[in-house]
Formats: sequence, structure tokens, C-alpha cells
Amino acid sequence: MLKEPQNPSHALPPAQDLPRLESLRILVGDDSPLLRGQMEDILKDAGFRRVLSASSSTEAMDLLGLGRDGKSGQGSGVSLVLLDLLLPDFSGIQTCRLLKKQPAFQDLPVIMVTASLRTPDLQAAFEAGAVDYITKPFDKTSLLARVRSALRQSLETEARKRRERQLLEMNRRMEDLVETLRHLSVVDSLTGLANRRAFDETLEREWRRAQRVKAPLSLLMADLDFFKAYNDTQGHQAGDECLRRVAEALKSGLRRPGDLAARWGGEEFALLLPHTHAQGAAQLAGHLRACVEALGLAHPRSSVAPMVTLSVGAATLVPERGGSPGELVSRADEALYQAKALGRNQVRQAP
Ligand code: GH3
Ligand code: MG
Ligand code: MG
Repeated sequence: MLKEPQNPSHALPPAQDLPRLESLRILVGDDSPLLRGQMEDILKDAGFRRVLSASSSTEAMDLLGLGRDGKSGQGSGVSLVLLDLLLPDFSGIQTCRLLKKQPAFQDLPVIMVTASLRTPDLQAAFEAGAVDYITKPFDKTSLLARVRSALRQSLETEARKRRERQLLEMNRRMEDLVETLRHLSVVDSLTGLANRRAFDETLEREWRRAQRVKAPLSLLMADLDFFKAYNDTQGHQAGDECLRRVAEALKSGLRRPGDLAARWGGEEFALLLPHTHAQGAAQLAGHLRACVEALGLAHPRSSVAPMVTLSVGAATLVPERGGSPGELVSRADEALYQAKALGRNQVRQAP
């Protein structure tokens, strides 16, 4: 997992990237025209040009784009709300509570404006989600200090969240990339079968498992017949397509979830069959040979059949202590050699 850098100065965009506080939109909600006017004047004198005003909770909610039922999907471009604790329709605290229920307004700072310094009122305001309070009558310095501090905090929170989203997205892309690389490292790109490396790993694992539980492990080595001639007459691209079709046939010819079809290299395939006796392996080998023949891929230069065919060598062992998976591979290879020598398009089984 990627970690957020430890140094907080790197965790946030540089200060000059944050918008100027004075460019942000502030909503003032108070039923007294006098107090509203005073707040607006103080803010405007300090350079805040975008001040909206509301004389009731309903009006404030309309300006924020929050429906009367407290439902809304959208933010409103307002960066800070100054809200009278006591409003004629319903209280500033209720309004604040409604706002905070909406995801779009969860980070919108609300400062309560109040004549009351009663602890229960202030407690209720903070519980409703207010970040701060200002007492009436206003002291210009403290009003501006609190407004600026709330706006700064809100911008920093926004920047931090943006950065967190970016990190999450980067993380997700890294995970995708790792998955792609993992896939590329175990899959043969031409046929989509397991590649040689994945096969070797699986063989090693299955060998040890079979050794532990004294179970038979079978391996089929399969090789296309006269494939050089196929390439020479049909072209390399047709050769590639043929390898894909054969791979598909082999994969869908396997019956158990634990069976593995891999491309050994060139036009040679390896099929690993855990918990499979010699008889079962021979049967499956015959079935796969027939599946490839049944594809009916014309091969005029083959001297064994008019279509592409497969020779298969099968070997089965119950792995012994001290043995190695190489034994199984050599036996299957030897059987394959026999199948070729005896005329191709057939299955031979190691004794
Ligand atoms: P045999 O019946 O004895 O197996 O004869 P063969 O011609 O199939 O065997 P050989 O080993 O002489 O030739 C294998 C050919 O397989 C060589 C090459 O042209 C072809 N081949 C190997 N890998 C690929 C591949 O990725 N794509 C294509 N199109 N051809 C390949
Ligand atoms: Mg061949
Ligand atoms: Mg070969």
C-alpha cells in the first residue's frame, strides 16, 4: 500500500495553489436586517466580494440548493455559512443538522451566530455540526479571524481529501498493474494457456502434494505432427492461429478443475493431471488427440492424415521420497518419442 508522505508540507498542495479566501462565497443567515447588514459590511470591507444573505432558514436552504425536505444532491458553491442560532421558521441548529445529513454539505463549515452564551445552546450547535460560534454584538476582528480560520481549514480539508482520492486512484492503478504483470508472468501470450514457468511451479507443487498423500500424478506431453511443414505451406500466421485453436481444444478437453494445460514451448503442450491413474491418463490423452483431429484444420503436407494431428506421450507416477518431477517429464517425453516413431497421431504410454 502506498502511504501518505510523512512530512505534512508534502501532504498538501502548496499554499499558493489554494484559492484566495476572499474569492470564496459566504452565506449569511440572520433574520435581523441590521445584524445581517453589519456582517455583510464587515465581510465586504475585508475584501469578501461574494456574500449571499438570507433572512430565514428556508431562504438559506434555498440559496444552498437544499430542498425543504432536507434532500439535495448538489453543493452550491458556498464555502462558509454564518447562521443565526434563532431564526423565525426553524432554528439555525435544525438547519445545520439538516445540512450535515447531506453528503454534499458534510464538509461545509457552519459558524453559529448567537446572542446566547448558554452552554446547552453552544453544545447543541456543536453537536449539530457547527465548527465555531460568534457572539452578537459583533467584534469585527474576531468575526474576521473566525471566518478566515474556518475557510482556511475547509480549504485544507478539501485539498487533503482530493489528495487522498488521488492516492487511492494511484493505488488502484498500481494494483491493476501488478495484476497485469502477474498475469503476463504466468500466461503464454499466444495461446492464453499457462506458460512454461507456471507449469514448472505447478508441477513442483503437485509433485510434493502427491508425494505427501501417496497419490498418482500423470503428465501428458503432446506435440503437433509435421508442424514445420504446416508453417511452411500455410504461413506462420496460420501456424499461430492453429496453435491457438489446438490450445483451446486441449483446454476445453480437460475435465477436472485441478488439471492444467500449459504450452511447453513451440508446438508442444504439457498437461498435468493430479490424482489421475495411468488408465485415466491414457483415456484423456486419447480424447485430446481426437479433439485436435476433430478440429479438421487442413494439413495437405502431413503424411499421417489430411488434417493437423497430435502425438501424445503419457506417464504416471506415485512420487517417491528422493524422486524429482524431472522423472515424470522424461518418461512422458520418452513415450511421446515412441508415439512419433510409431507413426504419429497416436498416444503412447510410458511403462
Ligand atoms: P514432428 O511431427 O516430428 O513433431 O515434426 P514437426 O515439424 O512438428 O517438428 P519440428 O520440431 O521439426 O518443427 C516444429 C515447428 O513448429 C518449427 C516451427 O516452424 C513451428 N513453431 C514452433 N513454435 C511456433 C510458433 O510459436 N508459431 C508458429 N507459427 N510456429 C511455431
Ligand atoms: Mg511437432
Ligand atoms: Mg516439437
